[in-house]
Amino acid sequence: MSCGCSCLCVFTGGEAERDIGVTASYPPLSTFSTGLRCRCPRCGVGKLFDGYLTIAATCSHCELDLAATDSGDGPAIFVIFIVGPIVTGMALWIEMKFSPPIWLHMILWLPTILGGSLWLLRPFKAVLVAIQYKHKAGESGYNGPK
Ligand SMILES: [Zn+2]
Repeated sequence: MSCGCSCLCVFTGGEAERDIGVTASYPPLSTFSTGLRCRCPRCGVGKLFDGYLTIAATCSHCELDLAATDSGDGPAIFVIFIVGPIVTGMALWIEMKFSPPIWLHMILWLPTILGGSLWLLRPFKAVLVAIQYKHKAGESGYNGPK
């Protein structure tokens, strides 16, 4: 509930008061730092994941509700756009330079694609969740004061 003035409801007990309290006790963190470390976007301490790619329901440190976060297909798209050109370029270069048999390409590139994708997917998902939190994205459920 907003009082309509510029006091941001600090003394009225409105939603903004709780938001200011949260902001004051948790200063803004780098989205990339918290994301790459797979930590909570608010406190930077609690674990973001409960499993390999499953987002925890709440932060184990600050109890931020993470259930509404949804990064969708975003992390997979970024991983495809990074791993795909690298592997394609390297495979073309190897083919032009050495012309190896197809089985050697399979041995080289299938584990590279799988390993690179699994390695990058988790931090990219964490970075996107942190960006959603920072910008109060609608799908994440962090819409700020109402
Ligand atoms: Zn937290």
